Amino acid sequence: MIGIVDWARDLLISRGALVEAEEAGALRAMLPAELGAALESGEWLSLRFGAGAGSDDENEWLDRLGRLLPADARVVSARLRRPTLVPPVDAAGALDRGLALQNGIYRVMEDYQQTARYYFFGFHYTIESDETSLGVVTVCLNASARALVAQPEFVLKAIKDDLEEDPQPAVPRDELAELFPMALRGVQPEIRRLAAGIEQSANRRLARDTERIDSYYKDLLSQIGKRMARRALGAEAAEKERSRAAATQLDRAAKLEDLVRKYSLKIRIQPGDVLAVRLPVREISARLVRKKAERVAKFHWNPKLGALESPWCEGCSAAAHPLFLCDERVHFLCRSCAAPCPACGKHICRACQARCKCGGS
Ligand SMILES: [Zn+2]
Ligand SMILES: [Zn+2]
Ligand SMILES: [Zn+2]
Repeated sequence: MIGIVDWARDLLISRGALVEAEEAGALRAMLPAELGAALESGEWLSLRFGAGAGSDDENEWLDRLGRLLPADARVVSARLRRPTLVPPVDAAGALDRGLALQNGIYRVMEDYQQTARYYFFGFHYTIESDETSLGVVTVCLNASARALVAQPEFVLKAIKDDLEEDPQPAVPRDELAELFPMALRGVQPEIRRLAAGIEQSANRRLARDTERIDSYYKDLLSQIGKRMARRALGAEAAEKERSRAAATQLDRAAKLEDLVRKYSLKIRIQPGDVLAVRLPVREISARLVRKKAERVAKFHWNPKLGALESPWCEGCSAAAHPLFLCDERVHFLCRSCAAPCPACGKHICRACQARCKCGGS
């Protein structure tokens, strides 16, 4: 997860600003004239976010910096400035650890250097409750090995300084169209994870405020109750107290409803730029055998991660790690797509058929 400072820095650099790193949560930048105008700032921009006196308003700067984003996501093609050699790896060991294959066997056929097409999809998110949290989550897919890359932000950081624009950008549009929904699906669990933390603390504040309002109205209502209990109260006065009690109840309900609204979570996800980059990998080609069926597949050992990339599940496109194989066509499956049907207990492959024939799920 990248915070607003990193996001602002990357965005400003990408638009031609000179950015100085300061202590955590702050940055200072020299802006080209048109950038300064777009941001309503002078030549020098100094930002500080977070708690404490004199910090800048994150919401306001999200809006201002947002003006620098292109209306449509751009696809930028890049490649490494210098070709690098990926040294041979222990292919069998890499598959053992990297696949965690649960119900079949594999045999390594060969391994060699290869170039893979990677796509880094950036998604801007805003999570709003009584406070706002925002940032960028990156999802990385290796289209050549059909793998979901772990720690995409780490990989991006590791290659960033060695990238140059690709002189022959060839981004297959149909490939991008196939990958985009997968990337969007891939970003949801990460954003849900971020939202869960925010929701927890919002719920804590909601509980605290609810208790406060509750006890305030309880006192009011008990005072009204006491007055009504007085013997000497005439019919007219009693009626007045009753309607006062009813109005107080309504007021209390409205206040509690306001609180729930105030602390409820709103999540927005917006696609950002896509970076398409060709990177060297060690390709391991292997034969996977499940009962009587088999399949030849290519896996990539990623030198930046020092690990094998997990293939994506052909049922749901989450990471298929540990890896399960389907009996019929040796599809790559995650645990839940390989699980038996919860209604009838029959083994089904979610890549072969989306739903079980029994009508269950
Ligand atoms: Zn799955
Ligand atoms: Zn079934
Ligand atoms: Zn299958």
